Amino acid sequence: MDATEFRRRGKEMVDLIADYLENIEQRPVYPNVEPGYLRSLIPQEAPEEPDTYEDVVKDIERVIMPGVTHWHSPYFYAYFPTASSFPAMLADMLSGAIGCIGFSWAASPACTELETVMMDWLGKMLKLPEEFIAGTHGQGGGVIQGTASEATLVALLAARSRTVRIILANDPQRPETDITSKLVAYASDQAHCSVERAGMIGGVRMKKIPTKQSNKYAVHGETFLKMIQEDKAAGLIPFYLCATLGTTPSCAFDRITELGPICNAEQIWMHIDAAYAGSSFICPEFRPLLNGIEFADSFNFNPHKWLLVNFDCSTMWVRDRSDLIGAFKMDPLYLKHDHQESGLITDYRHWQIPLGRRFRSLKMWFVFRMYGLKGLQDYIRKHVELAKEFETLVRADPRFEISADVILALVCFRLKGSNEMNEVLLKRINNGKKIHLVPCQLSGQFVLRFAICARTTESRHVREAWRIISQLAEENEPPPRDTAEMDGRRTPTVPRCKPGQLRSDPGGNVDGGDVLNPPLVSPNHLLGGCCGDGRRNPRRGCHPRRPSRRLGGVRTWCGQRLAYVRCQPQGATSAPRCPGAAANAPRCPVAAAPSSFRC
Ligand SMILES: *Cc1c(COP(=O)(O)O)cnc(C)c1O
Repeated sequence: MDATEFRRRGKEMVDLIADYLENIEQRPVYPNVEPGYLRSLIPQEAPEEPDTYEDVVKDIERVIMPGVTHWHSPYFYAYFPTASSFPAMLADMLSGAIGCIGFSWAASPACTELETVMMDWLGKMLKLPEEFIAGTHGQGGGVIQGTASEATLVALLAARSRTVRIILANDPQRPETDITSKLVAYASDQAHCSVERAGMIGGVRMKKIPTKQSNKYAVHGETFLKMIQEDKAAGLIPFYLCATLGTTPSCAFDRITELGPICNAEQIWMHIDAAYAGSSFICPEFRPLLNGIEFADSFNFNPHKWLLVNFDCSTMWVRDRSDLIGAFKMDPLYLKHDHQESGLITDYRHWQIPLGRRFRSLKMWFVFRMYGLKGLQDYIRKHVELAKEFETLVRADPRFEISADVILALVCFRLKGSNEMNEVLLKRINNGKKIHLVPCQLSGQFVLRFAICARTTESRHVREAWRIISQLAEENEPPPRDTAEMDGRRTPTVPRCKPGQLRSDPGGNVDGGDVLNPPLVSPNHLLGGCCGDGRRNPRRGCHPRRPSRRLGGVRTWCGQRLAYVRCQPQGATSAPRCPGAAANAPRCPVAAAPSSFRC
């Protein structure tokens, strides 16, 4: 492809993108494919001779779109949002074209300098304390990380190195391994799973601070203080707290005004993970949620979630940049340049784990300029209003209850009643593929999460979503628990799936199941199928309302004539199948299963 053809194809691609996004709500939000669907649709090897561009484009609808979950559909209400805006997409095109790798100032000065200034712009929008703003001489400053997970890890590693340094300064004889083996980090039991992983990767203990429903799932100072006192008495060294503002299950806010002073007094690094909620702090009415930031050592949130900057763009600020640089600095000759250490410039490679980095600040620059602070605030407010509208609809229906305060654009709700009822409802919702939600677990309850996600979501979409949910809830009335049915003497009334119909299970389960735990929401090792001929299952184990056994750690059910079969690694003996299935029943539902699996 030369520049002339690129001009033409580029314009066509922009049209294709605009058409896709303009008409996205006509597509089923959740794909109707089984694991392994794609392999059989394309060749097993890359082409020897080049394909034509037309051939490639034709395959987008044939191969790709059937397996796409449409995150930008106004009917997508799962997880948290991922941002999308036209200015960000255009900026990303430019970033791709410049294609620099901005690991040091010299490697592409604009890439570094725009990032520093954009981080200051955004920091000022959030009214961060002055120490976090780089300016021209600041000790702190901001950096764009790929994800919140990386920011949490980078902060933890910097904290570890700072603590070791402080202890060694007072006690130079102490072996470093003796210090590191006693380090202990803390986070809420509601924290994102990436926080626990940061502890694992960083090789330190990570303790979960318990939260309670009565405290709105927030970590309080008192609980934290008690834990660190006990740990210190046991000879451990508390060194890092990851506080969460806007937890993933229910958008709870840890009490950083209480936690911060404790951390400062104990020389514990306080990192704040506000991955989702952070964007809202640009609105004066939500900024109080960030009060206590003045005690933090580092702070992070994801403009790629809720601030219209397409993935990836996770913004992190530190109070003292030398804490980060001190932890990761490597200076081989091939990366040295004249302006190094001048105090005026930043070499961002010292602020992150990889060496290479994209020109991501262009997306921020385009978005901030083309929306303006006001436009961004309006966007946040509109989403919060839509969530409130949904909350009102839920509250007006006596069958439902709200499970956590609705502060931003996430509504946690459930049917009053058993977890099982709610699981069935969620399965119905997701199987319908018109709207998409994921669950979470709060105080042992299976809860549905409704997050306003897409840029184009309007009131009519929210009302339509509620219409679907409340209608499915009506059909969801559980049959009376009936012992005759349990004993297999009578056909149960619940089953609804058609004989022979196959489906995947996008819903997750109640076993600690929440959006934090990927296998539960994308169980590509779980395949579902009806028990085949639609006949009543003669075995007790396949009763619709009773969970069946565990298979290889994955909980399976036989229910509603839906049997879950688990793909076995090649060489395993026959896969478990619904015991009541007729001989023709759940066979491998994937026509072209990946070769490493046998169903
Ligand atoms: C989404 C989320 C994360 C993970 O974000 P990534 O950028 O994908 O790593 C971390 N913490 C919280 C609270 C989140 O909501």
